[in-house]
Amino acid sequence: MNFPVFSSRATVRPWFVALVLVLASVFPISLLFKEGPQYSVGAGGQVSGKQGEVVLVTIPVKDRPDRVKGQFLQRTLTFFPIREHTYAGLLGLDMQDRPGRYELTIDVVYPQRTERRSLTVLVMKEEYPEQRLTLPSNMVDLDKKTLARVQTESKAVHEAFAGFVPHPLWKGRFVEPVRGKISGRFGSRRIINGQPRKPHSGEDIAAPKGTPVVAMNDGMVRLTADHFFSGKGVIVDHGLGLFSMYFHLSSVDVEHGQVVKKGQVIGKVGSTGRATGPHLHWGVRLNGSRVDPYSLLELSVDAQS
Ligand SMILES: [Zn+2]
Repeated sequence: MNFPVFSSRATVRPWFVALVLVLASVFPISLLFKEGPQYSVGAGGQVSGKQGEVVLVTIPVKDRPDRVKGQFLQRTLTFFPIREHTYAGLLGLDMQDRPGRYELTIDVVYPQRTERRSLTVLVMKEEYPEQRLTLPSNMVDLDKKTLARVQTESKAVHEAFAGFVPHPLWKGRFVEPVRGKISGRFGSRRIINGQPRKPHSGEDIAAPKGTPVVAMNDGMVRLTADHFFSGKGVIVDHGLGLFSMYFHLSSVDVEHGQVVKKGQVIGKVGSTGRATGPHLHWGVRLNGSRVDPYSLLELSVDAQS
């Protein structure tokens, strides 16, 4: 199948904070062989970012390739055209990717040939805070029946992530789904009832029960659920492996398969599931990586039709 044509003209503004780096150039392998098109070379052919960040990678291309695919660790990135001769891809660095250097290979596939580019991704350590929580023991040490329920629900979530719209649905800037005080930071090392547990994979935003929760950008509802841990929740597919999650809602106001617009109300803040008070758990997953939702707010992809 051909790469879906992104017919609109798009521009990408650079990230202005240290959260994100814009790569304006890559080190093409073809240069090593002194043939093929010439490209500008970035600083050592390297991009870098901290654990949990989204890195925008842009590459120059000749003509119109059939598709441009990247491979980073076990993750596949689909690049998309943003303007003439330029493709972009969003690279998610998982909160638990080990600091170090990794290779990102990018295949630019033309009808008659494929060009492989290679660049180094430096993953830097993020200092995550520690969060101590006290919860009822039956919410932490699960009985057999509850454990089976949690496993089934976890499978349903992973299945939701398995299929996604193969082109970008998001447009322009991403928005915060609700305003409020951050009550649980992304990446926090959690100590629950004195025991180390999984780190926190989203941002908790405290807000009164019933506060409207809006979609962070355009997308399609991939899952609505009422799960043991996450309570009533919505997962939105924004295309190309980018998903947003909204959990612990008091009500879900959208249906599976529904197309939603940026800023559209999808539910209300609540404390369903395992929650100590009304708040929104806002999570973002990008190509299988758990990334900090706030790192998306610095990004703008303005598509014009
Ligand atoms: Zn949370």
